[in-house]
Amino acid sequence: MSASFKGNKSFLPSKICVVCKKEMTWRKSWAKNWEEVKYCSDACRKKAPKSQA
Ligand SMILES: [Zn+2]
Repeated sequence: MSASFKGNKSFLPSKICVVCKKEMTWRKSWAKNWEEVKYCSDACRKKAPKSQA
């Protein structure tokens, strides 16, 4: 579902970190690759099992 967010600033997407299972809320720095974000932090990225390219 790709909604358009006209004037709806209160809504921020979020997803669950695949490593620590914490909810992570959208960050501006993730805007360009939000679809690919799986980890809440570099620490979790390093802990993650090797991903298939
Ligand atoms: Zn995490």
